[in-house]
Amino acid sequence: MRIELLNTPADALETRFEEQIRPIRMLDFAGQQRLTDNLRVFISAAKMRGDALDHVLLSGPPGLGKTTLAHIIAAEMGSSIKATSGPLLDKAGNLAGLLTGLQKGDVLFIDEIHRMPPAVEEYLYSAMEDFRIDIMLDSGPSARAVQLRIEPFTLVGATTRSGLLTSPLRARFGINSRFDYYSADLLEKIIIRASGILGIGVDQDAAAEIAGRSRGTPRIANRLLRRARDFAQVADAPLITRSIAMTTLDCLEIDEEGLDDMDKKIMDTIVNKFSGGPVGAASLAVSVGEEQDTIEEVYEPYLIQAGYIARTPRGRVATRRALLRFSVQESRGDGPLFELPLEDDQRL
Ligand code: ADP
Repeated sequence: MRIELLNTPADALETRFEEQIRPIRMLDFAGQQRLTDNLRVFISAAKMRGDALDHVLLSGPPGLGKTTLAHIIAAEMGSSIKATSGPLLDKAGNLAGLLTGLQKGDVLFIDEIHRMPPAVEEYLYSAMEDFRIDIMLDSGPSARAVQLRIEPFTLVGATTRSGLLTSPLRARFGINSRFDYYSADLLEKIIIRASGILGIGVDQDAAAEIAGRSRGTPRIANRLLRRARDFAQVADAPLITRSIAMTTLDCLEIDEEGLDDMDKKIMDTIVNKFSGGPVGAASLAVSVGEEQDTIEEVYEPYLIQAGYIARTPRGRVATRRALLRFSVQESRGDGPLFELPLEDDQRL
């Protein structure tokens, strides 16, 4: 049986859980210091002027707090937020409906903004720049454009693939913030805070153990905490001890670095099946039986950050570190299968 620990909200229950523990104000939002310090200044300045905050682009791997921060921005501005996502905006009419319903200073949050259809995206340009939209009425010879004014608003766009954003769209964001993975110390704090909200105690060393295996990602830390809570409950334990945390992590087959089944499969494929690479994302996806997008957005960024994969113009290659750890032949002591791409170690 494979236990899914994918880094995206999987179901309604999961989403409810995330809502429950999501920080509501900037004060509760741990980490991303530079980004939040800057935002605090921009928010205060906009409020002093009585203006809407400039449009904000939040980019980075899933589960690092982009949605959370979008809601916090609205709360700190004292305005309302309307949330949607790129793939849901399949018609320009949907976007027009959202835009015309905004009050002055409101936040429109578009998750996965890189997945917005181009026709809808073009619509957004004039809305972002001049707070107006051009609506086409009728079609054929009687077609005419009507211009609608909308209230000054703040677009907060979130993306896991900022490279896929078109330049005209990117250029219209005044504030461009990139999220980094979290340190284990910060994740430990996040776990302890979440356990308080969930009403289950967690030992500090249990929290540290979970934090160290959460791939720098609050969503994963919280999810592992929830699984540990299940193990504690079944064992009738009043709190999550280190031993319960270890049992949980072992049962979920999460190793010391937070790598799960799919990470190991990806590494095994690149190292052993493709002789260390280079291998293209599409071939890799077919080989491991996972969506290419999921590999590129969820797994790969962490494997790069952990120093196992390097991206080169010819495709993904395993680093020396990966070869040492995942090469089947190496571990049998038969020597390397191929030349170790030493220089690719640090390259992105
Ligand atoms: P994203 O939109 O980047 O995929 P989310 O904002 O949905 O990520 O965050 C996932 C979960 O992680 C949320 O439920 C939230 O509780 C938690 N989280 C994210 N960032 C932080 C943070 N900086 N401090 C505390 N919890 C966080």
